[in-house]
Amino acid sequence: MKKIIYADNAATTKLDKNAFEAMKTYLLDEYGNPSQPYSFSRKPKKTLQTARQIIAKCINAEPGEIYFTSGGTESDNWAIKGVNFIFPEKKVTITSQIEHHAILNACKDIEKLGYPVVYLSVEKSGKVNVEEFEEFITDSTGLVSIMMANNEIGTIQDICRLSKIAHKHGALFHTDAVQAIGHIHIDVKELGVDLLSASAHKFGGPKGIGFLYIKSGINISPLISGGSQEFSLRAGTENVAAIVGMAEALNQAVICREKIEFQLRKMEKIFLQILKDNNIDFIQNGDLYESLPGLINISIRNANGEMILHRLDLMGYIISTGSACDGNEDKVSHVIEAIRVDNNYKEGTIRISFGKYNDVSDAEELALAIVKILKQY
Ligand code: PLP
Repeated sequence: MKKIIYADNAATTKLDKNAFEAMKTYLLDEYGNPSQPYSFSRKPKKTLQTARQIIAKCINAEPGEIYFTSGGTESDNWAIKGVNFIFPEKKVTITSQIEHHAILNACKDIEKLGYPVVYLSVEKSGKVNVEEFEEFITDSTGLVSIMMANNEIGTIQDICRLSKIAHKHGALFHTDAVQAIGHIHIDVKELGVDLLSASAHKFGGPKGIGFLYIKSGINISPLISGGSQEFSLRAGTENVAAIVGMAEALNQAVICREKIEFQLRKMEKIFLQILKDNNIDFIQNGDLYESLPGLINISIRNANGEMILHRLDLMGYIISTGSACDGNEDKVSHVIEAIRVDNNYKEGTIRISFGKYNDVSDAEELALAIVKILKQY
């Protein structure tokens, strides 16, 4: 097989080996339905409890506050719809223009049902405009949903500050932490969040599994009705193997986080320096100080991001032009528009997201490959 350098870890990550090992038993041997009363289901049932405890500990929550879902999209939809549907009167939801489509389209859904939504603008760094937030928030705001870290440009928001403002007005605070969890420190108590979305495949877990943290005492309506799984709030037989894989992957990610971050920051520096040394005319998007480790978003003057992506693909390098979920649309992403990237640069936007399986030589090789493509332009 041709050597591939995978640098699209914000789209998805390779399954962690320990997570894979932990999952195997629950696929082949311990496949009992955890809801059944017989002894064959005892181990899967106990395993679910343990996974809930491990995950809770990783974010300083209680096990009873972790609700397993099918991933980030479901967790986001549940937070937006589940909270709004509980209000007897239609309260206002405040979110930002740079959220993932899982949030933006869930908000569009509730708008169609008559729930008002405000979409806050962001600064050029991708940080939410706090003055605008304070202007729009009132006592009729029911929910505020602001992502912890952006999937395209990596900007990390000041969730502590934003959640305090929300609570001052009696609103609940949700954060989409899909890109953040496992990569930056998360403590739900320090952050002051009421709900938090996560997805396993962004931190070395399997695809199709995630969770929603719901702070104890928060009232939320179920998104999926049926049996009594997940404390009667999210029905459906649990994907035990995937849950085990998610818990193991998150635990590994949290244990190794600082060491991996150190490596990723080194790769970022080397990658950018090579572009600069070769006089590539580009701007770096996102907040230069508070940004996800290993995620680099650049816009290259008079270039075409799609063309760079495909040329790199032929050479064995995997990167992205924007959000993976936008991959079928050949247009400048809503995030790049929201941060007002200059017209001469925005078409030339690419996202590189290194992960724990990359090393410094990957960063060097990839940067040189981009230089080569641009010099042939
Ligand atoms: N939220 C963010 C910020 C994301 O980056 C993604 C995936 O790219 C999602 C939500 C959706 O997560 P999932 O792929 O688990 O549905």
